[in-house]
Amino acid sequence: MPAGPKRPMPRQCPRCAGPLYPGYDDDLSCLFCGEYLFANLPERPAAPAPPPAQPGPRKRGRPRKNPAAA
Ligand SMILES: [Zn+2]
Repeated sequence: MPAGPKRPMPRQCPRCAGPLYPGYDDDLSCLFCGEYLFANLPERPAAPAPPPAQPGPRKRGRPRKNPAAA
């Protein structure tokens, strides 16, 4: 897993300049306002699957009984 450039973690809360305490997985949480700072960006969910291909226009009428023997 490639390690990106380490971002410097702030020592104070960017919101209220309150004290930070280490949370889960090197994350930081603010004691005062509860601001949560991710040491590593939270994983994004995989890209949503593309919508299923639209079937062509429906053919009207009775389907052929044996399309292979034309
Ligand atoms: Zn704060």
